[in-house]
Amino acid sequence: MSIRGLTYEVPGRTLFSSLELEVVAGESVAVMGPSGSGKSTLLSCALGLVRPAGGTIAVGGADLTGLRGAALARHRAEHIGMVFQFGELLPELSPADNVALAALLAGAGRADAYARAEELLTELGVPLAESSEELSGGERQRAAVARAVINSPTLLLADEPTGALDEAAREKVADTLFAMPRRYGCGLLLVTHDPAVARRADRVLGLASGVLGPVADAQAAER
Ligand code: ADP
Ligand code: MG
Repeated sequence: MSIRGLTYEVPGRTLFSSLELEVVAGESVAVMGPSGSGKSTLLSCALGLVRPAGGTIAVGGADLTGLRGAALARHRAEHIGMVFQFGELLPELSPADNVALAALLAGAGRADAYARAEELLTELGVPLAESSEELSGGERQRAAVARAVINSPTLLLADEPTGALDEAAREKVADTLFAMPRRYGCGLLLVTHDPAVARRADRVLGLASGVLGPVADAQAAER
């Protein structure tokens, strides 16, 4: 992913202006920063969910800011995976359904989608339960990672993916996430408040007062 000159405004405030960010294939980048600094907004831009006031966001050979409607949805399904803080699985569906759904929406056939979903879940240590409500918080997050990578994305995004987990689950989810760039060659852009998680990334950046830049001290980036 290549973000150039990104400018984003909310009423009364410019969240960032002329922001630059490059995440290459196989690389992991962690973003830290105080609450309200715009970390989630940055990920929403990278996902093509919100439209910036200016700049370009190139993912998988297309500028997201130039895509609309069905073309944007299709490009996103093929190239971008996202993991949220609380997993956000559909609770009444099984983990396999949740993961296969992402492949089905990207155009895969049913048998192929389910075979890949079950293989991925097993690989990531998620039980093939009847409903996602039976899963622990950590298992839910690993299922969310499986859902995010089933279409072999160019870019994997994660917004505070370990924020709601206890320490043991946090380690396992972080292991799973940071294995993905090596395994699939995707870029990983992860937002976290946890210095221990951030330090596992190839690069740690801080976002504060609209400026995104390298941080030497992950702990200090939160202040
Ligand atoms: P972070 O994830 O770093 O905590 P966010 O990206 O969620 O920060 O939000 C950054 C700031 O932008 C916050 O002050 C938030 O209130 C504001 N903001 C984000 N989206 C909107 C919006 N659609 N309308 C108004 N304010 C917004
Ligand atoms: Mg946020």
